[in-house]
Amino acid sequence: MKIPSQFDAIVVGAGPSGNAAAYVMAKSGLKVLQIERGEYPGSKNVQGAILYANALEEIIPDFRDDAPLERHIIEQRMWMLDETSFVGTHLRSDDYNKPPYNRYTIIRAQFDKWFSSKVREAGALLICETTVNHLILDNDQVVGVQCDREQGDVYAGVVILADGVNSTLARKAGFHNEIQASNVALAVKEILFMPEETIGQRFNIGDEEGVVIEMVGRITDGMVGTGFLYTNRESLTIGVGCMLSDFKKNPNRTSPYVLLEEMKHHPAIAPLIAGGEMKEYCAHLIPEGGFNAIPQVYGNGWMIVGDSGGFVNAAHREGSNLAMTTGRLAAETVIAAKAAGRGYGANELSVYKAALDDSFVMKDLYKYRDMPNILHRNPQFFTTYPDLVANAARTMFTVDGVDKKTKKHEVMASFRRSRSLTGLVGDAYKLWRAFR
Ligand SMILES: Cc1cc2nc3c(=O)[nH]c(=O)nc-3n(C[C@H](O)[C@H](O)[C@H](O)COP(=O)(O)OP(=O)(O)OC[C@H]3O[C@@H](n4cnc5c(N)ncnc54)[C@H](O)[C@@H]3O)c2cc1C
Repeated sequence: MKIPSQFDAIVVGAGPSGNAAAYVMAKSGLKVLQIERGEYPGSKNVQGAILYANALEEIIPDFRDDAPLERHIIEQRMWMLDETSFVGTHLRSDDYNKPPYNRYTIIRAQFDKWFSSKVREAGALLICETTVNHLILDNDQVVGVQCDREQGDVYAGVVILADGVNSTLARKAGFHNEIQASNVALAVKEILFMPEETIGQRFNIGDEEGVVIEMVGRITDGMVGTGFLYTNRESLTIGVGCMLSDFKKNPNRTSPYVLLEEMKHHPAIAPLIAGGEMKEYCAHLIPEGGFNAIPQVYGNGWMIVGDSGGFVNAAHREGSNLAMTTGRLAAETVIAAKAAGRGYGANELSVYKAALDDSFVMKDLYKYRDMPNILHRNPQFFTTYPDLVANAARTMFTVDGVDKKTKKHEVMASFRRSRSLTGLVGDAYKLWRAFR
């Protein structure tokens, strides 16, 4: 039996991927329904958050006119921390201080609300506080969704799953497997409010300028993971995330909350956040499986976009950038399929996968395809090396009457003691493979 569709497309979820998909389709005149389980778009969402301008620019070129942006980033710091020190690199460039800016800090609750207002202006219908429980199938063709409401069955030509990292819908429908602890990180973060002038002084930045600090080392208690500290206009975001599988086997049974608390007390971090008033605390999963963990992302009447498909590039963590790009490409596929009038079978929707393969999304995921495996199996990059590098720098920079040649030998010996010569060579090769 042919069930009449009430909509051209249903988008499940109103995060960056769902909003991108719904906006692009509605803008081109398609009848779009978007369903979000949160009280409002953004209420359930967590991000650092750095917004990379490029993906949004492709969708809303003049987004800078009214999007709630915090600060544009002019300085990127990478720190390796041991118990008491950090060794790092800073890239600060005046080129990043000229519009159009390349990236911004944002607060997701505000940003998602703004993006959603654009989606509705474009003509999509948004229903919040509604959870999609199941996909409705007609043989093997997805023809609609079943919601947790009375008379909650809605029909459409195509359903786009933009329901985030723990996509229960895709699992229930058998589109992908149970999420694996070794393929996701669990991250916690806080937003700490403090006066704008204090942020300016502590980070050496002007009114709208921002700094990003990414960190590895002792802060993750031997687990594979990273920490981050971002400057918003009147607040700082601080967070840390480690592989879920590592939390499970952590011998100290360190909880994510304790990890963040301890990180906040690190002597390199504590002075930067001192006096900050905590206003928000949240925890969320991040897909970390990379290229090899991407499932089938299209089929008869369905496509998967954003975190739901695991589209996060472990090397750069620009999840929202990939989310918006995948949402846009899925939407363009629907628009083309509707114009062709041949329905929304897997054959028509395979154009989405071809577009993904042709874009930076799959190219970057492929480039770093070995990274998740290599980093997850070699925790020394997150533990031993930050210690060794910090110790080496301290030894070389401390003036204490010991000659530099002796210090150099001491440093080399400390590396050999910890990792052996073959270990060091092997690690260099692994690192090359991870980033090649
Ligand atoms: C701590 C942290 C820091 C991060 N930092 C950055 C960063 O700085 N930069 C960056 O680019 N990325 C970052 N990311 C990644 C980024 O947040 C994600 O990649 C991005 O949010 C993915 O967008 P999405 O739309 O696919 O999923 P989500 O943003 O998770 O949105 C999914 C939406 O679907 C809704 N939903 C789920 N199930 C249902 C259902 N059954 N029915 C109805 N609605 C449903 C949810 O409520 C949610 O609104 C970070 C992630 C975390 C956790």
